[in-house]
Amino acid sequence: MSDTNDNTIRRIVIVGGGTAGWMSAAPLAQRLGGPGHDGGRCEVVVVESPEIGTIGVGEATLPTIRFYNAALGLDEADFIARTRATYKLGIEFRDWGHLGNRFFHGFGDFGPTLGNSPVHMYWLRLAREFDRMPALENWSMSSVMARENRFAAPGGQTPGISDAYSYGFHFDAGLYANYLRDYAMARGAQRIEGTITAVEQHPDSGFITAVKLRDGRRVEGDLFIDCSGFRGLLIEGALQAGYEDWSDRLPCNSALAVPCASVDKLTPYTRSSARAAGWTWRIPLQHRTGNGHVYSDAFTSDEEAARVLLDGLDGAALDQPRQLRFVTGRRRKSWVKNCIAIGLSAGFVEPLESTSIHLIETAVGKLVELFPQRDCSPALADEFNRVMGGRYESVRDFIILHYKLTARDDSDFWRHCAAMPVPEPLRHQIELFRETGRVAVLDRDGFAEPSFVAMMMGLGITPRRYDPLADRVDIRQVHGHFAGVRDLVAQAAARMPEHRAYVEGTVAGK
Ligand code: FAD
Repeated sequence: MSDTNDNTIRRIVIVGGGTAGWMSAAPLAQRLGGPGHDGGRCEVVVVESPEIGTIGVGEATLPTIRFYNAALGLDEADFIARTRATYKLGIEFRDWGHLGNRFFHGFGDFGPTLGNSPVHMYWLRLAREFDRMPALENWSMSSVMARENRFAAPGGQTPGISDAYSYGFHFDAGLYANYLRDYAMARGAQRIEGTITAVEQHPDSGFITAVKLRDGRRVEGDLFIDCSGFRGLLIEGALQAGYEDWSDRLPCNSALAVPCASVDKLTPYTRSSARAAGWTWRIPLQHRTGNGHVYSDAFTSDEEAARVLLDGLDGAALDQPRQLRFVTGRRRKSWVKNCIAIGLSAGFVEPLESTSIHLIETAVGKLVELFPQRDCSPALADEFNRVMGGRYESVRDFIILHYKLTARDDSDFWRHCAAMPVPEPLRHQIELFRETGRVAVLDRDGFAEPSFVAMMMGLGITPRRYDPLADRVDIRQVHGHFAGVRDLVAQAAARMPEHRAYVEGTVAGK
């Protein structure tokens, strides 16, 4: 037992004070801030460089951010006020499947089903009987709320309808990092400002022992969390974990980001519009709208990309566009020896489905679950790398699907995407859906069946068949079900306040 005590981690050094750094620090300070059973403490130290700064983008999230916030005990109204957040019901896709194509990928499903098959199977059956069917999203609570610009938290008066959706947030990433910094520091985390110029390692084990700052200070630690962003200062710079480059299947490598003034209607969703050599995002916050253009510099120039971005703004630009470059992929191992990479240092798929912050939540959660002793058992590292590797790959495949299924052939970029080889599991998913309407959900912790249905049908696949068991329900019953659900969804949405009024009410009532 004495060995266990000697082996206890007493100092965690987090390198980087961006979203990943403070999202890692907050739960670690919450859990380790107080004295342990032997009275000993575990310090949490965050080192950040004012010279280098943070990436400054990352404003849209998935619903899982609510579980992360709730685990910290954050009050939702306080969080919304402090980070100037708005609610997010999903993403509106424009011009992705073809020019003029528009559909919604919402958080939630397509309403209750009526037999043993997934509801989209009955919809496919109806679509076969009637030539022209309105889009399946008319039955999805989140899509109808988004279309009507309305929001209320799930619950409401119509069980099975007004609770059949979920929500995440859009927020100011800088304010969120500050919010978590205050939280972590109130629980004992320390913050050191300085630029790291060297990493010290044990000559035998290779474990990191300290980081050296430009002004000569040394910061020692037992466990190091690398949140240094794309540069991967520890995981790559010192430990050379290696990087798996995915740019042959995810061709975008550049982005320009610019905020603009808000317009009247505060939309409760992110908009993603496909462009000639990539896509643009629009993310509404309380005080401004975040915009960006993600593109491949092999297919357009930076000047043309900036022009496309600025021409598409719906309010006056509040700054000059800021240029970012990236290589899509992931670190081959994100836990090596006593160093764990979290955030951009671990990899970057691309921001199309707002998955980076979600992957930070997953990594921090896994680290807490697998929290090591000072000798960092390699079995823990293997388990962490197994889980995180799988999560990155499943996000990667879901994003590739967005590009691969396009019918656009109006630019070299889209012709390149349509011709790209895709990973085998994704090829199988597409083929299965195209042939039978069935969804192979390969990662139970990843995007669920309704997400695949929304994307594949939205992008233009109409399955050749549907589940034959869906034929066992009388067609009049099927018809009545869809008519009834559509009316209930419309009524439930109509009872909700406008999104802006709901946000203002939340902030005022906090
Ligand atoms: P950074 O923000 O780069 O922080 C790095 C930190 O390390 C900084 O504090 C820096 O000072 C410190 N540092 C670096 N080097 C040193 C050194 N030598 N010494 C000391 N300190 C050092 N994610 C989403 O979930 N949703 C989105 O909508 C979204 N949109 C995005 C759009 C684009 C174009 C891009 C590129 C990314 C987007 N992301 C999004 C990803 C998101 O921005 C990041 O996952 C998130 O900001 C975390 O970044 P980070 O903390 O890992 O790195």
